[in-house]
Amino acid sequence: MKRKAKDTLTAIEMDRGETEEFELADGRVVRIELLSTSAQVINTTLQQLKTGEEAGRTDYRFDCTLRINGHEHTLEREVSTQRSFYEPWEIEGVHIWLDAVDDIFDFLSETHGPCRMNRGRGESGYKQARLALQDSSLRICPDRMHPWCPLPEGGLKIEDCYRGEDCWLGAYNGASAHGGLDINHPPGTPLRAPVDIDDHFYFNSLEMGHNNNRWRGIRRWPNGAEWILQAHHMTELTVREHTPIEKGRQFARGAGVLSGAADHSHFVFKIHDYGETILLDPWILFWQMYKDRDPAHNNPSG
Ligand SMILES: [Zn+2]
Repeated sequence: MKRKAKDTLTAIEMDRGETEEFELADGRVVRIELLSTSAQVINTTLQQLKTGEEAGRTDYRFDCTLRINGHEHTLEREVSTQRSFYEPWEIEGVHIWLDAVDDIFDFLSETHGPCRMNRGRGESGYKQARLALQDSSLRICPDRMHPWCPLPEGGLKIEDCYRGEDCWLGAYNGASAHGGLDINHPPGTPLRAPVDIDDHFYFNSLEMGHNNNRWRGIRRWPNGAEWILQAHHMTELTVREHTPIEKGRQFARGAGVLSGAADHSHFVFKIHDYGETILLDPWILFWQMYKDRDPAHNNPSG
């Protein structure tokens, strides 16, 4: 598919052999072809993969090889080590976040929140790799972001993702890819709008009879992209539902409800654009929030 870099992040899912033509702000076109993907377990405490054990742990690596403007690049990630919080690659003027490959579902199930790719032509029936792209001279959105929750000093720490494993796609109980990013903090921790929010509401709540309070906020960017942000385990909302929330305003007291062995908020990020909805690692948002908070590490675009 051919797309032009917007002033917000572009999420794409690819089948092997598929090519994306990504036009930068200055008009240069970068051809990105997915050649191959793979994934391997680094270590596991499980007797049997995909069969969860209480507090079980499985760390893994995955990679994809892309041909970008004729040159091959292999991008490699780790989950759920501290390296889960990674820098994007910068290749041919494009920031590339390698979000996931479908091979991880050879040894993980998807029973702890949606996180798998959309349907594709691959053997498994799903798209084979998920990436986020941005012109490397641009931010992930035009506005500076406000911290969604208090940002831990020195960056996110994997030890503070529930029991040290529940980053995005981390193996919950060693067995199931985690469909969110957990950040441990005490019940009542203030959560604030990271960008202006156009609409927001609980899509699950104790009041409606669910076991959890799950919040969804929607930002409709002028360029047509829609960001869907979610925060689960909320103690309470502090802004009336279905009213806009200005960036930086507190909208909830976080953590607290059904937050298990360690009080935490569970964050989810989706982009709806080009007629499809694509899930992405909320870490990408936090990456930008850290940059926006600390001017010394700011984006080239400032
Ligand atoms: Zn979670």
